Amino acid sequence: MAIRALALVSGGLDGLLAVRWLERQGIHVVGLHFRTGFVHRAREVWIDAARAKGELPGSGAARLDVVDLREAYLRLVREPRHGYGSGLNPCLDCRVLMLRTADAIARERGIELLATGDVLGQRAMEQSRHALERIDAEAGVAGRVLRPLSAALLEPCDAERAGTLDRSTFLRLHGRARRAQERLREELECGGCPASSGGCCRLADRHVARRMRDLLSRSESPGIHPDAIALLDRGRHFRLGHALKAVVARNEEESRWLTEHAGERWTCRAADGHGAVVLVDGECSGRDLDAIAGLAATYSRSSGAGCVAVELRRCAEPPVSREGVPIDPDRVADWRI
Ligand code: SF4
Repeated sequence: MAIRALALVSGGLDGLLAVRWLERQGIHVVGLHFRTGFVHRAREVWIDAARAKGELPGSGAARLDVVDLREAYLRLVREPRHGYGSGLNPCLDCRVLMLRTADAIARERGIELLATGDVLGQRAMEQSRHALERIDAEAGVAGRVLRPLSAALLEPCDAERAGTLDRSTFLRLHGRARRAQERLREELECGGCPASSGGCCRLADRHVARRMRDLLSRSESPGIHPDAIALLDRGRHFRLGHALKAVVARNEEESRWLTEHAGERWTCRAADGHGAVVLVDGECSGRDLDAIAGLAATYSRSSGAGCVAVELRRCAEPPVSREGVPIDPDRVADWRI
């Protein structure tokens, strides 16, 4: 009977290459994706398409399971044991959590092996030899994980030691260069999968990290609404009060998105429609409305002409008209998150 592997798939190329490679060795693979709420959008789209199709595109029909890890992941973002990467990404803790959870699932299903698309030395924080060993030890999966893209450079896993895997077939990818992965992409016919460079989640982005820090500092409840997370990499963000934020679209597409996702929240825009949509995120008083109208005026086409007529809208209520006074650039900079 073919050996079975549960392969962690983040939606990037490396995970899919690992799946393809394992399949070529006759290993039966099931893909496992963890929803954290912060995965890059291109990857989310790819994962959703794979899920709808019932298998990983470009694989030999490997099934894809998706597990929601958002609550546990958010706890790590608040208080990581091992600190953050370049942004607010708790990579070491995240890898431990994912491998530990994957291992529990694998054991429950009687799957012998875990697999990942890790490439030795590709990312200093979580893919150095020392980090990989430390992650495996902390997750309690030492010897259970195969990293086929770099396996020839790593200590053999239990299945290799037991002789059920042929070490001579494994790859020796290492370092940051992506040429080898791109060659493999062609060889293994993994076209269409998003690139793995740039990390797997949005928390590595410094703008997103700053906004997330702001969000965490203002929310006492352990959970954060998914809407607030979806907003993190959209628009320009301004902190107007402890519980009040304004998000100003940067282009027409974002204006549309903010309008469509406003729900019960107010939006504000120049009455002539030539300006950015401002989403009001939080409770606001009359004075706050002046600031919001001012932001809509500042980011309108008529901002150089003094007061600008703006309209506030919420759900199906009739629009509220107001005069917006463009805001002093220093003040705008002070509010910026
Ligand atoms: S970048 Fe990847 S490993 Fe790091 S925290 Fe985000 S999902 Fe986890």
